[in-house]
Amino acid sequence: MRTLLQNITLEVQKGDIAAQRDVEAVVNAANAELAPGGGVAGAIHSKAGPDLYKECKPLAPIAPGEAVITGAYGLPNNYVIHCLGPVYGEDKPEDELLASCYRNCLKLAEEKSLESIGFPGISTGIFGYPKGEAVKVVFDTVLSELPGLKHLKKIKFVVFGDKDLQLYESKLREIAPD
Ligand code: ADP
Repeated sequence: MRTLLQNITLEVQKGDIAAQRDVEAVVNAANAELAPGGGVAGAIHSKAGPDLYKECKPLAPIAPGEAVITGAYGLPNNYVIHCLGPVYGEDKPEDELLASCYRNCLKLAEEKSLESIGFPGISTGIFGYPKGEAVKVVFDTVLSELPGLKHLKKIKFVVFGDKDLQLYESKLREIAPD
């Protein structure tokens, strides 16, 4: 499902963040050390190959809400934007830190003049952020950033399960009912 808002396509698709051929950058739901791990970070690092972690190491550690950009190596993209989401119940205020994640990723993409970016549901896996709460923060943040975007023409949300797909699609319908 996709919709056009302020000349920018917002798209929701079920899939693997490490297999997105139609975006220039994918976002990694990273850990502080920018190391390979489980979930999104595991999928991204295993597809990218060991050179990704070599580039990441000197950039670590990062703090919750921060993001850094690297090459994408074996991934079908040009860049990976690594972002550390808040651990729910620990890194506070969670909503502001999660909003910073999305803002900082968009900022880095804009600085590289990228036209497209793909996001996973940052913090909603191992970090325990409730998915219904997270999706509100995601759309509030992205919508408030849209007017300032000069290069980005497509923002894609890559979700893993049917429940996430429903959450994102109903939010998208709310924003752009037709
Ligand atoms: P975090 O540590 O920030 O919570 P996770 O990687 O554990 O990040 O999970 C973030 C979200 O991404 C979860 O909703 C999870 O279901 C989803 N997810 C896990 N693997 C993938 C993948 N390969 N592609 C897209 N989404 C994924």
